[in-house]
Amino acid sequence: MRIDLHCHTTISDGELTPDELVIRAENHQLDYLAITDHDSTDALVQAKAKAKVNRLFVINGVEISTNWEGFDIHIVGLNFQLTDPRLQQALVIQRQKRDTRAQEISRRLTKKGLEPVYDRAHELARNGCITRAHIAQVILERGIVDRFDKVFQKFLGRGKPGYVSNQWMLMEQAVQLIHQAGGVAVLAHPLQYQLSNKWLRRLVGEFADARGDALEIGVPQIKPDHQRWLSSLAIEHCLAGSVGSDFHRPARWRELGRYQPLPENVTPIWEKFSLEMSCFVD
Ligand code: AMP
Ligand code: MN
Ligand code: MN
Ligand code: MN
Repeated sequence: MRIDLHCHTTISDGELTPDELVIRAENHQLDYLAITDHDSTDALVQAKAKAKVNRLFVINGVEISTNWEGFDIHIVGLNFQLTDPRLQQALVIQRQKRDTRAQEISRRLTKKGLEPVYDRAHELARNGCITRAHIAQVILERGIVDRFDKVFQKFLGRGKPGYVSNQWMLMEQAVQLIHQAGGVAVLAHPLQYQLSNKWLRRLVGEFADARGDALEIGVPQIKPDHQRWLSSLAIEHCLAGSVGSDFHRPARWRELGRYQPLPENVTPIWEKFSLEMSCFVD
């Protein structure tokens, strides 16, 4: 069974449309794919319609930006009811906050001498939700910086001139919304927050206290000792393990369905919900 529970489309900062993503997943022989755009589920209806023609099960997903102790923590929701009104209303607010934040980032960067970036970033986001990745792309287009990660190091990362402090819903609110909609909540890419071991341990403990379900342990390019440490944290807190490529665009080092598999001693998240059932949730 091939499964990927974390990826993006043009509905957020991914490069492939929902249809293109489904075709790519099919070509890579995936059996199950959760599409987890930032703060939006808008790709899912289209992707499911496409997947009906092909042979792939598309699982409802979303990656919610949240606030924990001022850090931007991403919570992936899986297998929830797509039409749940509380979840959808909360996502509308998140997208409004994204728009306001993008305008504020643009304003701050103009103070650093850059031309306003908002209009072009908005255009790049098309009808999808606007992310810092779109703003980074504008800065790249203008040749101000020559690499994507450098834009974050210089302008958009935490503590840099274009960084706007976290205004997202609280982490525990995201877990609650996902549960109320019948889904499971996953702490996404725990090693990407640049937290010390002590803080990461606190984050996982508080995620478990908030009734979170799983840690994303099966991720690309994770070192074996890091994966072992995350697994021990998951087991300690009775959390399952989730897997995902966090695919955004075709690249040599990242592909749908490609990640370090879960260690044997970790319970896979899909054992907490029926994969076959999930296909009928919409
Ligand atoms: P946002 O959710 O709008 O804050 O944007 C976050 C997105 O920007 C992430 O999902 C990544 O796709 C991208 N991103 C964030 N930080 C970095 C970084 N340091 N290097 C490259 N991409 C990043
Ligand atoms: Mn992203
Ligand atoms: Mn993320
Ligand atoms: Mn992601």
